Amino acid sequence: MNYFSLNHKAPKVKFSEAVVKGLAPDKGLYFPESITPLAKEFIENIDNYSKEEIAFQAIKQFVGDEISETDLRRIVAETINFDFPLVAVEPNVYSLELFHGPTLAFKDVGARFMARCLGAFSKFEEKKVTVLVATSGDTGGAVADGFLGVPGVEVVILYPSGKVSDIQEKQLTTLGKNIKALEVNGTFDDCQRMVKTAFLDEDLNKALNLTSANSINVARWLPQMFYYFFAYQQLKDKTKKLVVSVPSGNFGNICAGMMAKKLGLPIDLFVASTNANKVVTEYLNTGDYLPKPSVQTISNAMDVGEPSNFIRIEELHDKSFNVLKSSLLSFSYTDDETKAVMRDVKKQTGYVLDPHGAVGYLGLKEALIQSDNAQGIFLETAHPCKFIDVVEDTLGEKVTIPSELESLLSKEKVSVLLENNYNQLKELLLKSVDIQLV
Ligand SMILES: *Cc1c(COP(=O)(O)O)cnc(C)c1O
Repeated sequence: MNYFSLNHKAPKVKFSEAVVKGLAPDKGLYFPESITPLAKEFIENIDNYSKEEIAFQAIKQFVGDEISETDLRRIVAETINFDFPLVAVEPNVYSLELFHGPTLAFKDVGARFMARCLGAFSKFEEKKVTVLVATSGDTGGAVADGFLGVPGVEVVILYPSGKVSDIQEKQLTTLGKNIKALEVNGTFDDCQRMVKTAFLDEDLNKALNLTSANSINVARWLPQMFYYFFAYQQLKDKTKKLVVSVPSGNFGNICAGMMAKKLGLPIDLFVASTNANKVVTEYLNTGDYLPKPSVQTISNAMDVGEPSNFIRIEELHDKSFNVLKSSLLSFSYTDDETKAVMRDVKKQTGYVLDPHGAVGYLGLKEALIQSDNAQGIFLETAHPCKFIDVVEDTLGEKVTIPSELESLLSKEKVSVLLENNYNQLKELLLKSVDIQLV
């Protein structure tokens, strides 16, 4: 499979190059040259297949012949070796729980898949790959865990000192081996700026194979298609109209759902549920796309003012506002509305929502009012205990922490302190090359 840049000013590349580069040289996002629907019989008989088979069928055309079938089947199986339960919350309202992976947020699947693909490629490369990533919380943990112990891959994570939760910091700083955590005396934006500068630095690129591990990378974005197939498989009644609501920030997850629909999965309507960062919601209402600086909310993994995957969504809808509007609704909610619904759902049903899932639930309910005889799924993207302060504060009760996390909290943090200074990062990265050469 070839990938082209959505800026159309860079050569086409194969899957491996798209993964190793991350972003095209013209700064465009990579997009697959063709999308071939799966056989109708496969989707009609989806109940008869294992989740490993379903995931393999969904991803194989996007990988092509660069990874052997045996290796790809192994990579897929290792990527998804935990549960993705569809839980009935109310009649016709289901929560797809995507937080049963090692770091308790949905980003595990993309990170695990990408790590294993890089591992498969690096067998043939002489130079190690260095994954450089800035995190405001969840991405760093998923990447650290996903890439731990992958041969030929070094991971360097930048995070803002004092601005991630305890659990999130421990997930980044206690693994050791090929994972290095750099604690930056600055904000997330500072971390992101340093990472972007590094990608453009010629000296660094000569010395290192640098790549990124956020959802612009096709190997992190595409495996998120699996969720939608797994959800559909678990639906008992497959005859009703299906609405899927995705709590969205960078719009990688929902865009993967739209890819699943292109492959033939019968999803009738998508809902992009957002917090106060509502550039897409406003676009669908007004036709004007106006990115803004992000504002802080209680669903902080969705605090994105300029969603990088939106351009892929436009590409999937013929770059037409009207085509997009016919298959996507979008609603935005305040923190107060989010907290109110968390309390309400707990009281009415006993189900505990995290702030991101709560935004998804709200969007789903609003969309279902407009659709007759429909059923709906919202994606529950993180375990409530990852946002324990907000959840306990809102519900006025304790949330149980899973035992894996309890033991994590007692481990010792190891990080390197870094001033908000690019040259210091550069020196450190170059030094790590020397160490590898010794
Ligand atoms: C990253 C994240 C999101 C947003 O996903 P996008 O693919 O960026 O839209 C939502 N919820 C949680 C918990 C996340 O970590």
